[in-house]
Amino acid sequence: MDRRKLVVGNWKMNGLAAQLGEVEAIGAFAAAHPSVDVGLCLPATLIAQASAVSGAAFIGAQDCHMKDSGAHTGCLSAAMLTEAGATSTIVGHSERREDQGESDADVAAKALAARAAGLKVILCVGESLAVRDAGDAEAVVSRQLLASLPDGAAADWLAIAYEPIWAIGTGRIPTMDAVAAMHAALRAALATRIGTQADGMRILYGGSMNGDNAAELMAIADVDGGLVGGASLTAAKFAPVIEAAG
Ligand code: PEP
Repeated sequence: MDRRKLVVGNWKMNGLAAQLGEVEAIGAFAAAHPSVDVGLCLPATLIAQASAVSGAAFIGAQDCHMKDSGAHTGCLSAAMLTEAGATSTIVGHSERREDQGESDADVAAKALAARAAGLKVILCVGESLAVRDAGDAEAVVSRQLLASLPDGAAADWLAIAYEPIWAIGTGRIPTMDAVAAMHAALRAALATRIGTQADGMRILYGGSMNGDNAAELMAIADVDGGLVGGASLTAAKFAPVIEAAG
């Protein structure tokens, strides 16, 4: 199955208006690589301004609340993000699962809320180092994926990001064989729930992806792109990752 590559930057809690020039440069680079879908998941404070300058790169959020409105101080609904200019959002990033105690059920509810507001969704899963070392990673992450998967999951609005927690921001990545085995396992797990839709669903790799390793990672059969943190913060670092996907 021919799946378009999807490369998404996750700026986390980085970026002020002074960095909008990087957004603009990344958007221009994306325009020159039309065979790749490119996006930037930004701090919510930048979404409106970034949407005006991001060119061919779509702008996404990093999380949304599962409710439409209400007494949830400091939270943002999916409709608020859509109104600001986001067209997608990450849900279930390991930093939120860990820092905010988000459960698999929360993640599935957030994905549904995002979809209802018209956002596309990137749903993150991944194992701890202890799980990897115990030799259980594929089974554990497959279970996490199925427990986090929203009803109606389909390739036209949902992508999965496999992000080993121990690879995020550390400069370490799994072996290529381990990445291949995990992505194949996740696609097989998806097929048990959504049948042939699993063939079209993009499964991204995330965790210390950069210009040096992106080509090799994205050449793996079931790796359909990347979710990129540190190497997405400037156009100079992100451009080689986009190029590797093209
Ligand atoms: C991430 O947190 O989504 C991520 C992949 O970060 P990094 O690329 O910096 O490891």
